[in-house]
Amino acid sequence: MRDYDVAIIGGGIAGLSLAYFLAPHRSVVVIEREDGLGYHSTGRSAAEFVLRYNAPEICALAAISKHFFDTPPEGFSEVALLKQRGGVMIANAEKVARFEEVFAEESRANPELLRLTVEEAIERVPILRRDYVAAAFYDPQFWDIEVENLLQGYVRGARSHGAAIIERSDVLAPRRDGERWVLPTNSGDISAGTVVNAAGGWADPVAELFGVAPIGIVPHRRTAITVDLPDGVDALTLPEINEIDEDFYMKPEGGRLLSSPADATPCEPADVQPEEIDIAWAAHFVEEATTVPVRRIFKSWAGMRSFSPDRLPVIGFDRDRPDFFWLAGQGGYGILTSPALGALAANLLIGAGAPDGFETVGLSASMFDPARLRT
Ligand SMILES: Cc1cc2nc3c(=O)[nH]c(=O)nc-3n(C[C@H](O)[C@H](O)[C@H](O)COP(=O)(O)OP(=O)(O)OC[C@H]3O[C@@H](n4cnc5c(N)ncnc54)[C@H](O)[C@@H]3O)c2cc1C
Repeated sequence: MRDYDVAIIGGGIAGLSLAYFLAPHRSVVVIEREDGLGYHSTGRSAAEFVLRYNAPEICALAAISKHFFDTPPEGFSEVALLKQRGGVMIANAEKVARFEEVFAEESRANPELLRLTVEEAIERVPILRRDYVAAAFYDPQFWDIEVENLLQGYVRGARSHGAAIIERSDVLAPRRDGERWVLPTNSGDISAGTVVNAAGGWADPVAELFGVAPIGIVPHRRTAITVDLPDGVDALTLPEINEIDEDFYMKPEGGRLLSSPADATPCEPADVQPEEIDIAWAAHFVEEATTVPVRRIFKSWAGMRSFSPDRLPVIGFDRDRPDFFWLAGQGGYGILTSPALGALAANLLIGAGAPDGFETVGLSASMFDPARLRT
């Protein structure tokens, strides 16, 4: 039996970012069911980094994380983790009043937002359909995240401090041995003083395996497709396109155009696959808002975005089980907030307070404490 201070269940961005920040302080093992790290939500994201989000807490987490993305520790990644993309918010004629409202509010706090005429919008995004766009603004603060480099940076850093990562091992039947947890894995039993639930869409069922009451984390399916861009359209410089109410969004991905109908369908945790209807909507929006003809769908996929009841992450020890720690509910922003949330979780696990920078942006550890969701 191998002994660790902390066993992390889930080898997605949450579990691996925590392993990275925690391994210098504690002995750590990450246990992942699949035979690849990041196979579920983490490998299916749109790889977008934004500073504006619909909750102030997430904007603050993004601001903290930006510092890590811009200046990661020496040797973390050979390439820049963020590439500037820029984004154009658009509205059709029916939504101009709504657009004005959003722009007035957003531009008060974000003076860098730039109002565009339809001509200017098409200049920046040549594939936009002139008869669709009635109003637009530009936000320079959109970046693409190099997700694979980020994930591998966490993995390398964690391993360099002695963390073990076990793949193809489903945590199914944990048991108690005195003060410790015992987790059977495909390479023998593991004993750990504390277990971390970083199981993404499976966070509630994993809690129940440990005799911990679920918290109400619900996976929501989201779909994306990619289609070919016409010759002559430069995917490198094309900004992201966002419908003003997030009815859809599009962005370059691997030289093609990614389109998502921004679906958010509650689902059971699983290896979710795209539904025909959502693929059809994604293609419909490409044809409605752009001049890109959808001749074939190159690729389609779906993944889970898992939300807690108040849609904020759930990070901290369980009130009733002090050797069970939650790192879950990262919704649609788990990649971009992973530096801040991984560091916060590591600090709490070693008995320190919130990391440097949290207080400055108005964040405290209690905002994410699972106790807030218990009655
Ligand atoms: C279409 C789409 C677009 C998105 N776009 C963005 C974006 O642009 N920017 C952004 O920041 N975020 C985005 N997200 C959200 C982001 O992908 C998630 O917030 C993030 O990946 C969650 O990471 P995780 O580690 O919690 O979950 P996961 O990556 O799902 O990892 C959890 C892991 O736990 C493992 N596991 C579960 N149960 C067990 C068990 N019993 N034993 C062993 N292992 C177990 C699973 O196999 C899984 O690998 C998007 C998501 C989707 C679906």
